[in-house]
Amino acid sequence: MRHQIHDLLAPLPGTARQIHSFHFGPQPSHRKIYIQASLHADEMPGMLVAWHLKQRLTELEAAGRLHSEIVLVPIANPVGLEQMLMDVPLGRYELESGQNFNRWFVDLSEEVGNEIEGKLGDDPQHNLQLIRSCLRDALARQSADTQLQSQRLILQRLACDADMVLDLHCDFEAVAHLYTTPEAWPQVEPLARYIGAEASLLATDSGGQSFDECFTLLWWQLKERFGEHFDIPPGSFSVTVELRGQGDVNHPLASIDCQALIDYLIHYGAIAGEPAPLPDLPYPATPLAGVEPVTTPVGGLLVFAALPGEYLEAGQLIAEIIDPIIDRVTPVHCSAAGLMYARSLRRMATAGMVIAHVAGAEAYRSGYLLSP
Ligand SMILES: [Zn+2]
Repeated sequence: MRHQIHDLLAPLPGTARQIHSFHFGPQPSHRKIYIQASLHADEMPGMLVAWHLKQRLTELEAAGRLHSEIVLVPIANPVGLEQMLMDVPLGRYELESGQNFNRWFVDLSEEVGNEIEGKLGDDPQHNLQLIRSCLRDALARQSADTQLQSQRLILQRLACDADMVLDLHCDFEAVAHLYTTPEAWPQVEPLARYIGAEASLLATDSGGQSFDECFTLLWWQLKERFGEHFDIPPGSFSVTVELRGQGDVNHPLASIDCQALIDYLIHYGAIAGEPAPLPDLPYPATPLAGVEPVTTPVGGLLVFAALPGEYLEAGQLIAEIIDPIIDRVTPVHCSAAGLMYARSLRRMATAGMVIAHVAGAEAYRSGYLLSP
């Protein structure tokens, strides 16, 4: 295992933060896996899974079982991790800019596209290596003005040439679920089975230039631009894995999730061994554009009637919103049938607030598909 330390831009004299990456397995290797945790710094289940994984990968490396390089970043967001306000961790948005830590990774598809023009050939492997090398160079040329930008750049540089990128997150109160692209779904489906994903939400471009999409979108856009004349392989696929809710930080779950990731890496061929039998897929993949963010029209005490993981019929009751002054009880229902995979942690709702997410089978939304 090789431990690398990457310095973030220091915004003030006398301050310092770093990203620590742990590199297992052969290097160079013909395949690279990148796994990071807690990019939203108030989402801890992934960090505990990453720590379990660190121990297991150390053993597997010593046993000579790693076929691919596996890069692990257990703390992807030291900036957000330190944002604590009056006993409340605030790890989703940077306080300085208000920006979501998992948005606005740099889009280099046009720059890389211009760079490779005239250099592509008939061999997809040549094209893959060419694009990767141009992407590494383009990222190396990028400079950061702020600590947030430098954090994003370090993560993007570490992951840009990986074949597989796993970004470990969680929701507020939720069952295990994941986000990926329709193009990657055949490769991701075994992961959904091992991890027990009760919803798998597919979108090619959900609009926020999030960490997972900054890799897949580049290859997708290059294919759109050059695919008619050249074979552009999908050089990278990525998955945002949502390991249940914020409170689900315990060793039994983390050890199950760690084993699921190892089973998937064995199945993928990155770790030597006999793949564990594939469990059933709990729920078919559905379009991200079919997710209903269920909102409440009024504010009040939020009393849920439905649990994460429940399959709801169209029009089924999700919660009641109670105004204890005028004794008004407002029921909130979902519109379409689907699996309620996540709900809010708050119990005092404000008017217009999203209280739950239901994965429906039919796409009906378009444009920006993520939460803020
Ligand atoms: Zn997250």
